[in-house]
Amino acid sequence: MPSSLPGCFSAFLKPKQKTRATKARDEPQKALLDDRLPRRNDDKSEEPQCRYLNLCCDYSCNTNGPKWSEDDKPPEYPGLDAGDLWAQDILSTIDQTVNDHESDLRILSLQLHDHPELGFEEKYAHDLLTNFLADRGFKVTKHYLGLNTAWRAEFTHLKGGRVLGINSEMDALQGMGHACGHNLIAVSGVGVALAAKAALEAHNIPGTIILLGTPAEEGGGGKIILLDRGAYDEMDACVMCHPGPGPAHSASTGTTIAMQSIEVEYFGHSAHAGAAPWEGTNALDAAFLAYSSISVLRQQVRPDHRVHGIVSGRDWATNVIPDYAKMQWIIRTPTYPDLAIFKDRVQACFEAAALATGCKVRMNFAMPYYDLQQNATLAHEFADIIGNRYGYATSTASSSASTDFGNISYELPSLHPLYAIPTTPHGANHTPEFAKSARSPKAHEATMVTTKALAQTGIRLLRDDEFFYKVKQDHARAVFRRDI
Ligand SMILES: [Zn+2]
Ligand SMILES: [Zn+2]
Repeated sequence: MPSSLPGCFSAFLKPKQKTRATKARDEPQKALLDDRLPRRNDDKSEEPQCRYLNLCCDYSCNTNGPKWSEDDKPPEYPGLDAGDLWAQDILSTIDQTVNDHESDLRILSLQLHDHPELGFEEKYAHDLLTNFLADRGFKVTKHYLGLNTAWRAEFTHLKGGRVLGINSEMDALQGMGHACGHNLIAVSGVGVALAAKAALEAHNIPGTIILLGTPAEEGGGGKIILLDRGAYDEMDACVMCHPGPGPAHSASTGTTIAMQSIEVEYFGHSAHAGAAPWEGTNALDAAFLAYSSISVLRQQVRPDHRVHGIVSGRDWATNVIPDYAKMQWIIRTPTYPDLAIFKDRVQACFEAAALATGCKVRMNFAMPYYDLQQNATLAHEFADIIGNRYGYATSTASSSASTDFGNISYELPSLHPLYAIPTTPHGANHTPEFAKSARSPKAHEATMVTTKALAQTGIRLLRDDEFFYKVKQDHARAVFRRDI
């Protein structure tokens, strides 16, 4: 179980431990467009079937624990010992390649930051990144698998070999720009691909690199749609990273939690609130009953479960019995199986409110984001490299954030480290302050270090048969534990 640490990427510094697992995937459920979400283009032909009701990435970080501020000097962490690392000649190639591209990646990152785009609208990012990769020897597929802003960049060296998957997120937040640092994630993915390509060529390693540009992490589950359409089928493993607040020069390979958005609508009948209220059916009463029931339920759920919601209406007036009310809810649990159980309990509250008031109720359940299953062997390798080569502190501290990469991690061996960038007090992910942090030179430096460690971890997967076997074993064990 994730710890009860309330934050997203804070509270990293803990000794390395093993990660754990749970179960299942179900069919994505149809979600309704929320009329309070930003307006999209009228052309719906490229839009996916599923949309999120709320922002789902939602790295709602805590404010406890040490954070890296711009003024901090890097700490000296003990245990720097690069001597035992695997294939340091390859690591040197990766170092050199990322260093050579660092200024180009910085420019890309700032260009993305200057052109923030919402989920499924990442057209500027799509063109910028695909053109960049096509110019550097990658076979690029634009508008991948029917998603207008998804893309794929592939490079193969020699015949046979395994396939390393990488993800670049691109979307920003409404009104805040890149307040989750996806500009950094995007260029990290590009950097991992460039470094891995150079390593394959320089060291004559057979293998394939597939970098996916994955739209709409903040709301829309772009990776889940790509997963369902087969984008991950060829991959032997997939890696990516995410920035957040935390101690200077630190990274975590902990979990994130499962979540699901639910939209609830109550339909009643209007009436004069003074003259003939008995002729009405009060939809607002239904919403308040549901809200109260869930507030009571909250006391009887585990402390690591979350349920939070809001009420909205339509043409409400104090002298009219409201005939319509809408609620938006999010539920969160440590694992996906927990989520399915918790959903039933919350759903009962919605239905009970309808029964009590005589309203009709309509519920729409968005695609769930699963908890993140970090592959233990990949995580340990990443921690060894970033700790011993670059002096980073690592932990397996978990986060109460959620990501659509969780669904990927249920399907194939996956690694999604969280790494710290300098932030200001109360300036964690999803704040305007974090958007500022995501364009700082130190944030870029931290991204490049993480990129190098991810690339080396990925190359070991391609080159080292025994390592790959352990990665597969870990994944199989995780699947087995979920299935029992
Ligand atoms: Zn986010
Ligand atoms: Zn994010």
